[in-house]
Amino acid sequence: MADLHYFPKDYVDAKQDFRRRGSSAAQFGQWQVPSATETDLFVDHAYYPAEDSGGKLFLIFSGVHGAESYAGHAIQSMILEEILPRLKRKATGFFLAHSLNPFGFKHHQRCTESGVNINRNCSSSPKLYKIDNSASLELTRRFIPRAPVDGLECHLLKQMRREGERVWFEDISLDQFVKTAAQGQYASPEGFEFGGFAPEPQVRALTWRLREIMSRYRDVILLDLHTGLGDRARLHLLTGDPKACVHPELFRELFDPAQDKALYDFTAHDVEGFYPTYGATNDLVAELVTPQQRVCALTMEFGTLGHDLGAQLQSMNQWMLEHQGCCFGYRDDEVRAQIKQLNLEKFNPSDPSWRESIVFIARNLVQKVLQRSGSLT
Ligand SMILES: [Zn+2]
Repeated sequence: MADLHYFPKDYVDAKQDFRRRGSSAAQFGQWQVPSATETDLFVDHAYYPAEDSGGKLFLIFSGVHGAESYAGHAIQSMILEEILPRLKRKATGFFLAHSLNPFGFKHHQRCTESGVNINRNCSSSPKLYKIDNSASLELTRRFIPRAPVDGLECHLLKQMRREGERVWFEDISLDQFVKTAAQGQYASPEGFEFGGFAPEPQVRALTWRLREIMSRYRDVILLDLHTGLGDRARLHLLTGDPKACVHPELFRELFDPAQDKALYDFTAHDVEGFYPTYGATNDLVAELVTPQQRVCALTMEFGTLGHDLGAQLQSMNQWMLEHQGCCFGYRDDEVRAQIKQLNLEKFNPSDPSWRESIVFIARNLVQKVLQRSGSLT
């Protein structure tokens, strides 16, 4: 049970803990996230630069999605405590951004206070916010009632019909629904996975900071920490547009999915139940590298509920309920509390063996990657 202490009690505890551990960094800072209701929302960031130019920069992000921050914090703490003291600093730099959605962490919701999914909001180009995904908005119109949530089964699941293993909502298959709705849209916070009209303040600050620090490295590797998708306690490595986000030669130097099978699956985004998206952190890092640099921008997803059909439907139910609740509220405090609790359990399972497993896997993965790059003593 040695790794359980890395899990924080709440946002405030996590923030203090990261500041305590990360303040040893050569460069340590905070971006305050403005809020209508809160005064203590910060993204903290710690930078341990390489001594020389031309090496590798590792970016480790946590908390893009509120309640997933618990696991992200635990893994960042493990890295600060166990890995960084063993790092050969000559050619390897580390930059950690902690709790990129502090409002969502504090209140256990996926999106920011303004209803934006940070992982659809990331780009250095205004073109992102002009993408049209009217098919997604049509799904919202058809399947999300414009009314408070009144129970624990969402409207969508009430429309479900099954043909063997195939699931349909009216004329839309489950897979089609997930791929359309999860992709992101830029028209309305009431639609699924709203990516905003412009970068959120912390995305803007992150973009500036990455521009400042990335240029002196040859290789940039992002590990963005998430939970909630895939097989329970299994690590899935995912990416955005594979052509832009993964330099094949750099990937081969650091990862070997066949040999590392015990640790993770490298999952293409077109696998059933997974999906391609716009505006992810991966895409931002890929946009910021120059043609002379190599990039490997990956999402680390630790599964929680599981990946069989029953688990996917349960996950879908919670997604719909949370979305409707965020937009239109809840019938009463009891329904609200029950849905919040289910959602917290989905993204931050209380099971100690799940928590132990994911820190164990993350430690082994990070060590393996650093050993392959010759960066560990
Ligand atoms: Zn996530």
